[in-house]
Amino acid sequence: MSNVEARIRGRGVLLVIAGPSGVGKGTLIAGLRERHPEIEWSVSCTTRAPRPGEADGEDYHFVSRDEFLRLAHDGRLLEWAVVHGSDLYGTPRAPVEEALAEGRDMVIEIDYQGARSVRAALPEAVVVFVAPPSIAALRERLLGRNTESHDTVKRRLQTAGTEFEHIGMFEYLIVNDRLEAAIDALDAIYRAARQRTMKAGWRGFQSELLDDLKELDG
Ligand code: ADP
Ligand code: 5GP
Repeated sequence: MSNVEARIRGRGVLLVIAGPSGVGKGTLIAGLRERHPEIEWSVSCTTRAPRPGEADGEDYHFVSRDEFLRLAHDGRLLEWAVVHGSDLYGTPRAPVEEALAEGRDMVIEIDYQGARSVRAALPEAVVVFVAPPSIAALRERLLGRNTESHDTVKRRLQTAGTEFEHIGMFEYLIVNDRLEAAIDALDAIYRAARQRTMKAGWRGFQSELLDDLKELDG
């Protein structure tokens, strides 16, 4: 981004990524952030237990049900939802609102209910659904990740059905078949969104251009 562009652009981009568990959302987001390290990651709160290798405060804030409900009650979550039938997941409000107000870009991974709530709260959010090329591929990825028992895989595939029913509410669809192509698609969406925030700040820039023209005339 040029210096002029950085000055014009007001709020940051909020990229919301949804799609069934195991489809590759985390992998795609990691690929995007490798290309654009300036994009921040919103760490969600969850009541589910950490998987081996997951770090508190990095992958999620792992909290008790009581703590979660207190956060929700105090208005400290931008959205929250029950996912996979029993676990609570939510997006902390302050980091997202602060980042956007300060012109920093943020990506959040969320279920379709959360995506709907975020869109209602922040209409400029860019909502993207990631689908698998097939159910067989999704199942393979869930099993291949080796983090879930057969029961949890079954529950996650059931939740996938509900996610697919809501594809229509999203602005963008990415089929994560070949990983690099899917990262390219996400990158294209992000770049377009960034140019849109540029347009949001057009008035100030327009005045500058017109003032400079007048000075040239005078
Ligand atoms: P999610 O965040 O959606 O739950 P992950 O990013 O953890 O999914 O990906 C689930 C598994 O699928 C991981 O083992 C990941 O390496 C693999 N994966 C992701 N994208 C692809 C792809 N395009 N082709 C094959 N495997 C993939
Ligand atoms: P997992 O348990 O596999 O990490 O996540 C399960 C699902 O929970 C994810 O696929 C994602 O859709 C959803 N999720 C993760 N974080 C949030 C969040 O902050 N809010 C909502 N509504 N859903 C989330």
